[in-house]
Amino acid sequence: MNQRSISIFGATGSIGASTTDLLRSEKGKWRVVALTAQSSISELAQLAREFEAEIAVVGDERCLGELRDALAGTGIEAAAGKAALIEAAARPVDLTVAGIVGCAGLAPTMAAIEQGGTVALANKEALVSAGEVMTAAVARHRATLLPVDSEHNAIFQCLAGNDLADVRWITLTASGGPFREWSEERLAAATPVEAVRHPNWDMGAKISVDSATMMNKGLELIEAFHLFPVGLDRLRILVHPQSVIHSMVEYRDGSTLAQLGPSDMRVPIASALAWPARMNTTCDPLDLAAIGTLSFAAPDEVRFPATRLAREAAEAGGAAPAVLNAANEVAVAAFLAGQIGFTRIAAHVANVLETYAPSAPASLDDVLAVDSEARSRARLLMETA
Ligand code: NAD
Ligand code: MG
Repeated sequence: MNQRSISIFGATGSIGASTTDLLRSEKGKWRVVALTAQSSISELAQLAREFEAEIAVVGDERCLGELRDALAGTGIEAAAGKAALIEAAARPVDLTVAGIVGCAGLAPTMAAIEQGGTVALANKEALVSAGEVMTAAVARHRATLLPVDSEHNAIFQCLAGNDLADVRWITLTASGGPFREWSEERLAAATPVEAVRHPNWDMGAKISVDSATMMNKGLELIEAFHLFPVGLDRLRILVHPQSVIHSMVEYRDGSTLAQLGPSDMRVPIASALAWPARMNTTCDPLDLAAIGTLSFAAPDEVRFPATRLAREAAEAGGAAPAVLNAANEVAVAAFLAGQIGFTRIAAHVANVLETYAPSAPASLDDVLAVDSEARSRARLLMETA
């Protein structure tokens, strides 16, 4: 069996851990090129040693010395900083896992796309921010995007062998997060600890807060808009608290195809690793008899306005999704740091969108400039609010 080469961006995160877990089960099949992290040096060095990576890159330049020390004598290259992340992403591999959180993952993801490779995309903020700039680069460089986000991976699987023109609806399912049944008063007092305690999924802090506000589903709506161009009016959101159906596609003949599975990110990641084939996983089998009931409800955009904000940003197009994403990243970080209340997150995003409407970005640099300016404005608005 031919070895395949792989790089994992965000190797020390939740997506990174699920990916390395799968690689361990078929170790001889993979040659690891780059592994990256923001600042968890000992974890990164340990992974680099275990997988005999070619290079380990840390985002925070101040950590380079420590990384070099941790890799001394191994022959593994050590590098640091944004340019090093981009350089590592430009090294040709069969598969790049984009598992950095936030728009920070955009430039490396674009570098991987520009080398014409296959990108397993978890980093939804990158696609939300860059939108057409990224999809145009994918087409131009004949790259392949394999969605890893569970909903998009489900849709990707349900679309296989079908024609987008035959799609009537794409339905993104949403667990509703830990506050699905909370009143507006209770939401206003929700704490970071409560927000990151997701009922079904074990994920990084940022996406957990996004799930609690439903901004995660808003970002996913924009992500789906770019990945599956059926038009915004054919994309809808359905609350499904059990997270068993990961998403569905309804065709014009009345057939609906759904993808089901355990709430375990190793399932969609395995689908991307093995695509277009399948691989074994040790994930729990789906026991529908034990689950018993699947339930569904329409989203409540009064208590959770984030999906409305995201839909409006997608409708506005241009720079709006990048502004929405940047404002949300700033607001979520402020919430996690105890600086603003839970319901201020969406309110703050709405504020930034109302006061900053730059022209549509035409290049990666334009997107990064919008992102940076939107962050500055979001911070300033927060201080003066
Ligand atoms: P996480 O916080 O657990 O991990 C993030 C990774 O990115 C870490 O390796 C971290 O070191 C690195 N990182 C953080 N900031 C960085 C920066 N500024 N520069 C370079 N590297 C940086 O996050 P996660 O939950 O694994 O999520 C990663 C991405 O995958 C997010 O975009 C998220 O929305 C998406 N996603 C995650 C899940 C999940 O189950 N965790 C599911 C679907 C989609
Ligand atoms: Mg998802």
